[in-house]
Amino acid sequence: MKTILIAGGAGFIGTNLCKRFLNEGYKIICVDNFHTSNKRNLKKISSENFKLIEHDITKPFDIDEGIDEIYNLASPASPRHYQSNPLQTIKTNVHGVFNLLDLAVKYDAEFLQSSTSEIYGEPLEHPQKESYWGNVNPNGIRSSYDESKRCAESICLNYYNEYGVNVKICRIFNTYGPYMDPSDGRVVTNFIIQALKGEDLTIYGEGTQTRSFCHVDDLLDAFIKVMATETEFTGPINLGNPIEFTISDLANKVIEKIDSKSKIIYLPLPQDDPSKRKPDISFAREKLKWQPKITLDEGLDNTISYYDNLINSF
Ligand code: NAD
Ligand code: UDP
Repeated sequence: MKTILIAGGAGFIGTNLCKRFLNEGYKIICVDNFHTSNKRNLKKISSENFKLIEHDITKPFDIDEGIDEIYNLASPASPRHYQSNPLQTIKTNVHGVFNLLDLAVKYDAEFLQSSTSEIYGEPLEHPQKESYWGNVNPNGIRSSYDESKRCAESICLNYYNEYGVNVKICRIFNTYGPYMDPSDGRVVTNFIIQALKGEDLTIYGEGTQTRSFCHVDDLLDAFIKVMATETEFTGPINLGNPIEFTISDLANKVIEKIDSKSKIIYLPLPQDDPSKRKPDISFAREKLKWQPKITLDEGLDNTISYYDNLINSF
């Protein structure tokens, strides 16, 4: 049986991954300090194959058993979180990545790094291909996240070059679905919760900015395919849904689906908020024989039903 360490396993993507791998019969070691997540996510997991280690990955640590694979999902991901904890975010994506890669060296484990479309910054190339170097403001309010995630890619590649660690760098574009913390602040979760509660939907700016939304189940399919690639394959590889929507499109869709009485209000656009985002996934299509299958309509239905149940359980 494979033993898989999931750093950040209590978070949104992490919880979905823990559940999926437990269903497949693997042993999971989840390492998380609950910096941006809630213990609620893991409460329903009662498998003897699941072990939780409450730990901040910026501090070195060891595991008392072998590990076959490491998925590094530990990092604040919501602008609200990383902007209120910039130095901790940098430490997590630099010191934390060193600490996890040291474990990968020790146990000869494969290593998946959750990089991000944020490394492209305010893109001057559209859609974004892996070959694009990006346009990031190193001094802006998003830089603690963008620059530390860029540095993390470099750390990973250098562990491959110097120690032969089998690293896989995945550049994830906006992903949504069940188990994101309701107070996370990212757009899909915000709009769904606001619409379910009949509160105003908060569009930042005019709502003309675009994002491409991938359902988490599609992302996990891609993760598994990436981990199955040959040792020499380090990425980076874009993972996301290439269908682009404006934030206004999303708000209207959510209101319509929930048949909500909510209104839309317009708040100031945060500094350096990217005006567009759309992955070019031709590399993932060719290399992994993967592309997202879940439409935004299907994914929203599934996510709305999760938050509806969650809100009613409070
Ligand atoms: P999340 O905030 O829900 O989950 C992150 C988890 O990491 C949380 O449980 C948090 O407590 C934990 N964590 C943070 N710092 C830690 C530390 N120092 N030590 C231990 N645990 C720590 O976010 P998510 O959306 O699940 O994102 C997971 C990963 O995917 C992140 O690395 C993020 O950068 C990346 N990513 C996500 C998206 C997306 O759209 N969801 C897009 C691009 C990249
Ligand atoms: N956004 C918004 N209202 C919200 C939350 C976010 O209009 O309540 C916008 C945000 O300004 C950005 C987009 O939605 O343009 C996506 O934001 P999110 O925080 O989900 O992720 P990002 O892609 O910016 O990291």
